[in-house]
Amino acid sequence: MIINGRTRPTAVIGWPIAQSLSPVMHNAAYESLGLNWACIPLGVPDNRALLAFTEAARTLPFVGFNVTMPHKQTMLSLCDETATLAQLAGAVNTVHCVDGQLIGYNTDGRGLLESLQNDAGFDPAGRAVVVIGAGGAAGAAVTACILARAGRITIVNRDLERAEVLLDRVSGSLRGVAAEALHLDAASASAVREGDLIINATPVGMGVDDPSPIPGEWVREGQLVYDMVYQRPDTALIRAARSAGAQAVCGLGMLVAQGALAIDIWMGDANGQTRAPRDVMRAAASAALAGQSAPVEGGSL
Ligand code: NAP
Repeated sequence: MIINGRTRPTAVIGWPIAQSLSPVMHNAAYESLGLNWACIPLGVPDNRALLAFTEAARTLPFVGFNVTMPHKQTMLSLCDETATLAQLAGAVNTVHCVDGQLIGYNTDGRGLLESLQNDAGFDPAGRAVVVIGAGGAAGAAVTACILARAGRITIVNRDLERAEVLLDRVSGSLRGVAAEALHLDAASASAVREGDLIINATPVGMGVDDPSPIPGEWVREGQLVYDMVYQRPDTALIRAARSAGAQAVCGLGMLVAQGALAIDIWMGDANGQTRAPRDVMRAAASAALAGQSAPVEGGSL
């Protein structure tokens, strides 16, 4: 990659950001596409820094930027326009800078659907989906499963009120999809066992010694367990799922797809003729992960 006077910046912003895989993934894609763009990781520790960055992004020649923890929810209110999927998810992870305006999107949900299809051959249509968690990633998963016309969606969270807020937000858009919110406790075991697809949308599993976010006995043969954690392919949940005879997939494919979908938006190719190269991005992300020997402490994309 050659950076020169015509290079346009993109960025990934969050805190912490040191372990982010987005720069290697994005820069590999730009090079493969022949785009004179460069992705830089920017540590944005607090709301003051977030406001300063968004003002800069309106005026400097940014193509766009990705947003990761902890700013995805706040970013929703800082955009000039937001896509419906981002509003429903309650989070923005992709911003397109257009003529001084910030247009917010959420590509996590579609990234999840792309990965479910490519990595597991799974279509949520008509199926029972259980989402563990109620934060930004859970919001994106719930929205995506509504879009894919799941049969039933159960949101299971430690903080029941937060799960109910998520359910309320999407309740006007369910289009016949049954949905409920449950507290994460022993009483939610049967709902988890009845699911066809179990999605971990909590950060539990990012740490090397993390337990499974749900007891392993709640998983059964025939289920698909999708762990959004991508830092390791063998989280406690994935191990428990495999030993129960379930299919288990880690979140790397979703990470790649949400980044690729962001590039697709920034390229603005309405006909979808030019797509970000998922294979190149996956190879770059996998190589970077293999090189990260220190235990992961942050949730950066
Ligand atoms: P978030 O907004 O902070 O939400 C975290 C959720 O996890 C909350 O519902 C929280 O429950 C729950 N949680 C946290 N610690 C828990 C624990 N010890 N036991 C049970 N539940 C717990 O975070 P997020 O942005 O949604 O991200 C969640 C995870 O998804 C992160 O690991 C992130 O890296 C991953 N992710 C992956 C991708 C990908 O492309 N693969 C994309 C997006 C996110 P409470 O509400 O009770 O606090």
